[in-house]
Amino acid sequence: MSFSDIVRDEHAALMQTYSRFDIAVESGREATLTDTEGKTYIDFGSGIGVNSLGYADPDWVAAVQKQAATLAHISNLYYNGVQISFAKRLCEVAGMARVFLGNSGAEANECAIKLARKYSFDKYGEGRSTIISLQNSFHGRTLATLSATGQDSFHQYFFPFMEGFVFAKAGDIDDLRSKAGGDVCAVMLECVQGEGGVIPLESSYLRAVRAFCDQRDILLIVDEVQTGVGRTGRFLACEYSGIKPDIVTMAKGLGGGLPIGACLCNEKPADVLSAGTHGSTFGGNPIVCAGGNVVLKKLTSDGFMEQVAEKGGYMRERLASMPNVREVRGLGMMLGIVLEKGEAKPAAQECLKNGLLVLTAKTLLRLLPPLTITYDEIDKGLLIMEAVLKGV
Ligand SMILES: *Cc1c(COP(=O)(O)O)cnc(C)c1O
Repeated sequence: MSFSDIVRDEHAALMQTYSRFDIAVESGREATLTDTEGKTYIDFGSGIGVNSLGYADPDWVAAVQKQAATLAHISNLYYNGVQISFAKRLCEVAGMARVFLGNSGAEANECAIKLARKYSFDKYGEGRSTIISLQNSFHGRTLATLSATGQDSFHQYFFPFMEGFVFAKAGDIDDLRSKAGGDVCAVMLECVQGEGGVIPLESSYLRAVRAFCDQRDILLIVDEVQTGVGRTGRFLACEYSGIKPDIVTMAKGLGGGLPIGACLCNEKPADVLSAGTHGSTFGGNPIVCAGGNVVLKKLTSDGFMEQVAEKGGYMRERLASMPNVREVRGLGMMLGIVLEKGEAKPAAQECLKNGLLVLTAKTLLRLLPPLTITYDEIDKGLLIMEAVLKGV
């Protein structure tokens, strides 16, 4: 099938919710993709942070294939050893007490919202259900998570949105305090605002939020859907500030390429979601968990996190010295590039033409390479990036 046939059929068959780049990807290996015309690309986006182990990692492929041939799906009406071993390991690695498994980041955040509200309802009764979220945040595309998202551009068309969310200025503890009435049950935030433009929150701010939540028995929900699973050089980005969330959500990179969402919590609300109060048909699917087990094993192997931080630092330094770069920000291998001039989208398109896939966030170029990317692939990608930035 030619590229133009693919585009024609896509327009005819799919709701036009995505503005796509002009390639159809056919296959991948490590951090290199091949399109339908046989052209190859270095991938600095990893499917928006999903392909944490790159493409076709042999151990991940073997585990997923084996599980597909053994038991692809079983209802949560029954116990399933693969799911349980994954859940146990995930709780250990994240330092949390319990997990609920779903299928996406938005679903993980939905679970977090339900969990926080019911914790408060059980303890204090009605009228304490408000969640403080931050301006410029992003928490997902479902109605509740859109309502929790602190960007006006997302609060359109789909009225009515959900009640019970107020927005505080990111990084401003006084603003958060002033917005926290007696009706507040949780604060929800990203340690590095991803879609909002790769904006890290100060550690001192995060610690102040943690202390404030403790004083008032307000649950702290940290959305690590993008920042989690080693992306920043630690398993969770919140480790950098030393804060421990009450609830933490993960998704993107956790399955190594398969759909997953996880909502974890500490002992406080561990028994809040009782039988019948929440659920998911596919959540904790055995194939997904088999893939997730490989991701956790690799991420916790000796020196893995250190090499993520190192490669992130290396990329950051190289990028900062490139032409037309005003600022490089982020943590580990979650990087945003502020350009002096020119727009991010055309620059990303130019990179693509030259064999490099990059993402954008607002007006920035955004990089989320596979955590396993080699220095050879990094150098190839950076060379393309430099040539493109020179021409912008
Ligand atoms: C991507 C993202 C989500 C939504 O995840 P989906 O899997 O697309 O539902 C939520 N929060 C953050 C911080 C994200 O980056």
